[in-house]
Amino acid sequence: MTNVPPLHLTDDRRRQLIEAAAEARQRAYVPYSHYPVGAAILTASGAVVTGCNVENASYGATICAERTAAVKAISGGDNGFEAIAVVTSNGASPCGICRQFLYEFGPEMVVILADEHGAVCWEGPLSDLLPLGFGPTKLAEGQREAARD
Ligand SMILES: [Zn+2]
Repeated sequence: MTNVPPLHLTDDRRRQLIEAAAEARQRAYVPYSHYPVGAAILTASGAVVTGCNVENASYGATICAERTAAVKAISGGDNGFEAIAVVTSNGASPCGICRQFLYEFGPEMVVILADEHGAVCWEGPLSDLLPLGFGPTKLAEGQREAARD
């Protein structure tokens, strides 16, 4: 998938995604970390689906904003992702679990990391955040190899 040219986002589209993520961030449920995160995914169908982090008193049950948005998009019938904007106070990058989760649905999707002022801190393909990522293609290759043995 590394031969696929990354999507070129227009400035308007980038700004729309950041604003949608910032709005979703306002709804974050973060009584423990006090670190709200908002995410907005641009799907292949052109929809923008948002998510926020939702914490839990049983910390392990917490879900990140990126996966909240992804699960909402998939459950709505959109499972191809072209871009995601993530807004945090300091422009942080997605955790490892989210990188892996997103890779399944768009290894070359554009990731935009913005801070609470809307400033873009980093932008690039998801594959730059998860080099040599494991996805459906690698799984299928491995299964074919195993079937030959
Ligand atoms: Zn995460």
